[in-house]
Amino acid sequence: MSLLSVMEIGLMFWAGPDPVATIQGVKAYGLRCGQLGIPGDYKMDAAAWKRALDAEKFTIVTVFAGYAGEDYADIPTIQRTVGWIPPATRAEREKRTYEISDFAAAIGVKSIALHVGFVPEDKTDPNYIAVREMVRRVADYAAKNGQTFALETGQEPAPILLKFFEDVARPNLRINFDPANLILYGSGDPIEAMGLLSKYVITVHCKDGNWPPKDKPGALGTEMALGKGAVGIDRFIAKLKEVGYRGPLTIEREIEDQNQKREDVKMAIGLLERLRG
Ligand code: MG
Repeated sequence: MSLLSVMEIGLMFWAGPDPVATIQGVKAYGLRCGQLGIPGDYKMDAAAWKRALDAEKFTIVTVFAGYAGEDYADIPTIQRTVGWIPPATRAEREKRTYEISDFAAAIGVKSIALHVGFVPEDKTDPNYIAVREMVRRVADYAAKNGQTFALETGQEPAPILLKFFEDVARPNLRINFDPANLILYGSGDPIEAMGLLSKYVITVHCKDGNWPPKDKPGALGTEMALGKGAVGIDRFIAKLKEVGYRGPLTIEREIEDQNQKREDVKMAIGLLERLRG
């Protein structure tokens, strides 16, 4: 990370079977850093990844954990399947998270991150208590690996996340701030949320989206190409400068159509280069 410049542009990408090919796919955009997502069923080969990163002179800023069985179709499905909230998969996902932390440590990455799912507002909710304890254990485990542990924003409003952070009270607990998620989940204005959470923000996603349709309860909003949604990416970058953020600007674009994705990522790089100044 020390080799990167202030607000260096990167990409959120997912591990493929061949680490070299995966990294070269990101470098093809002219980028030299990114956040690596690990699919739930991915077999992690730290030695192969380490070799590939060294050979390609590429920096992974964060390793993101995904879990087998997660489904982001709509809000009720997310509540049922994503992160640490569903009790049935909690223990296996905790074990998997330790493996992710160890993998990240073995390839020299100082931060792990994930979606815990919707943190309940009620502090006496058994799911709240179980997830808080698990966040503490994973944060402590990551600390032993010399890592920060970041939760991704958006599934709950910023004030709830802030209270949760204060309750967890772990010095290496951080936020991966995704402005689009706050809009897609209808959780509040991302610029206001950044104001509230900035002291915990270690990394950001540069992603855009529109609010959920009002006539379809439980539906998510629609992710959009950067600059085409309701985030107001110029306001977002201005806010990052205002709060003194110096970390990477990691583009995230989650659509099936790979040709469209390539076009959108290229466009996003150009846009961020201009806004970053
Ligand atoms: Mg994100």
